[in-house]
Amino acid sequence: MKRFLNWAGASHRRPEVRRALARAQYAAYVRQAPVLYLTVAAVISAAIYVCGDWNKPALTIAAPLLLAVACLVRLGVWLRRRNVEVDAEIMARRLVAASWLATLLAICFTAWVTSLYFAGDPALRGVIAGTFGVTMLSAVYCLVNFPISALAVSAVCVPFVSLLLALATPEPMIVGGGGLFLVMFGTTYMIVRSARDFLGLVAAQVDAKQLSDENARLAHIDSLTGLPNRRQFFEHLEAAVAGNPAGARVYVGVLDLDGFKPVNDVFGHVVGDRVLVECGARFTHVVGGEAFVARLGGDEFGLIVDSVYDESRVLELGARICEATREPFAFDDAIAAISTSIGFAACPDAGDTPRRLYERADFALYFAKQNHRGSAVVFSEDHERRMKGAALVEQCLRRADLDTEMTVEYQPLHEAETGAIVSFEALARWNSPDLGLVGPGEFVPVAERSDIIYPLSRALLRKALKAASAWPDDIQLSFNLSARDLMSPAALTQIIAIAASGPIAPSRIDFEITETALVTDFERARKAVLALKSIGASISLDDFGTGYSSLNYVHRLPLDRIKIDRSFVREMESSPLARDVIKTMISMARNLNFDCVIEGVESAEQLALLRSFGCNLAQGYLFSQPLPEDEVLPFIAARRDRSLPAERKIA
Ligand code: C2E
Ligand code: CA
Ligand code: CA
Repeated sequence: MKRFLNWAGASHRRPEVRRALARAQYAAYVRQAPVLYLTVAAVISAAIYVCGDWNKPALTIAAPLLLAVACLVRLGVWLRRRNVEVDAEIMARRLVAASWLATLLAICFTAWVTSLYFAGDPALRGVIAGTFGVTMLSAVYCLVNFPISALAVSAVCVPFVSLLLALATPEPMIVGGGGLFLVMFGTTYMIVRSARDFLGLVAAQVDAKQLSDENARLAHIDSLTGLPNRRQFFEHLEAAVAGNPAGARVYVGVLDLDGFKPVNDVFGHVVGDRVLVECGARFTHVVGGEAFVARLGGDEFGLIVDSVYDESRVLELGARICEATREPFAFDDAIAAISTSIGFAACPDAGDTPRRLYERADFALYFAKQNHRGSAVVFSEDHERRMKGAALVEQCLRRADLDTEMTVEYQPLHEAETGAIVSFEALARWNSPDLGLVGPGEFVPVAERSDIIYPLSRALLRKALKAASAWPDDIQLSFNLSARDLMSPAALTQIIAIAASGPIAPSRIDFEITETALVTDFERARKAVLALKSIGASISLDDFGTGYSSLNYVHRLPLDRIKIDRSFVREMESSPLARDVIKTMISMARNLNFDCVIEGVESAEQLALLRSFGCNLAQGYLFSQPLPEDEVLPFIAARRDRSLPAERKIA
């Protein structure tokens, strides 16, 4: 019995196959049962018409009428079930009940036909048996997808009908009985075969569905953190935007870990991965059910907060996330400290398509990273203006003739003690025919975000080298390289080729690099520095102290100078802390045998103080503003004419 049930699928060991089978059989039954009951009711009605005899009302009228009504009731029941969705469990239960009922009806039907047969006119017997056989045959066909029922019906009917036909007179009916028996037998065999095929088909469909479900699940999950991935993020965002109730906002958040790259570099990828996993867990914990969290890739996460009626709720959530990341990440032998910056954009204010919202949130993130590291910023109208401005700058920059529109100004670096000029730093200037004068603070970041930075750096370097060839040999050229130049081996090769074959000795060139490159990929940056040094150039680390974990890098690189960012000098006079930081940085540079340049020196008092800290090089408006090319030589000549140190002259 168990084997039979197993074969029929009713007790299949995989519940999902059982459920799928129940569903498929139910679907077939719902379609076929009405046909079956209608056929049987029609046959019975015909029998009443032909055999109805008021002398035998119970057998020829009442009993068949009762059977026909029972069939019609079942017909109605199944017709009503046609379009009603039910659970697989209920389907299975209904199918079992239906098969018992069908068997019961088959028994009643057979009993009635048998009685009719023996009570009837011998001439009618053959017709009765034949009609009965054909009816049963069609019943069995109708039940073909539900083999238990089909076999029960045929088990009840086949022996009877064969017997009846065998008993039938006239003689040829014996042959008919045998023939029908064979047909029934063949039908039963076919039911067994097709039921097995049906079960196999259902199991294969279940397998295929499970496989595709699993594939779909994997395609939507980030394998490292187990969080939804980028694809699922955008699908969710699409749905959230579409379903946003009137008056409410959907906030899209882009989260980026500050200082994650150094953790990866210093402690290795295993620790880096653990930080990402832990971050995912913290974010999920902090937001609870309030928002949808996803990992978008690298150290970037995404957040979707829907049905927001009050922006402060989102900012408060952002603050909690930032707070949760500030808690150090402790592993067996490492403690990593990072923070999270978040950019939010609201739908519909900032845009109403997922792409647009993501772009705006990404811009807000960029803004947060530049100005409010470790906190959350919501995209505003001011950001929209800046974004449009940057887009315009990019458009014009793409069309610009770099050789004619770009010029270079030169700002001297002096020895702090004597005021002697050591070098001139090349600072790019853009005179755009469409936009007028644009400062490097505006166009260099735009060039860096597109690929324009490569030709731009090359054009500026050629110009600067040409200008420097007119200067005395003991004065260096300081040239700013972008992190993108260092990160691209092809771009770096071209820069090196220009420097090596330029009109001045490469040893007179000092390349200024920023921490951004070191933080992006330290190993690559180190190789780039070595390559630049291999032609004899020297290297300065620019804007020192503003980056993330500067001290991690400086002693691992063959630097020549560090340039302490001008923000420290600005605060030096008012803040004892800034003074202490400068002092520490200067003494560290001296210990590591680096020259130390202080940028942004604007007053003689600042210079005096810095000299007392041991700083050996200085740059700033105190000495000179950046000079146009043609003013450099006169400036040098004027300086050399004077024998006194710069600050005494100025003071
Ligand atoms: P930076 O490399 O830190 O350049 C120093 C900036 O400080 C220059 O601004 C300079 O004019 C300004 N500065 C110099 N002394 C003082 C001072 O005493 N007080 C104040 N308040 N500012 C002073 P500039 O020319 O606007 O350049 C801004 C930034 O643009 C540069 O910062 C550099 O990061 C970038 N940049 C400029 N030219 C180039 C270039 O040719 N290539 C690349 N990649 N970046 C460049
Ligand atoms: Ca610089
Ligand atoms: Ca600088």
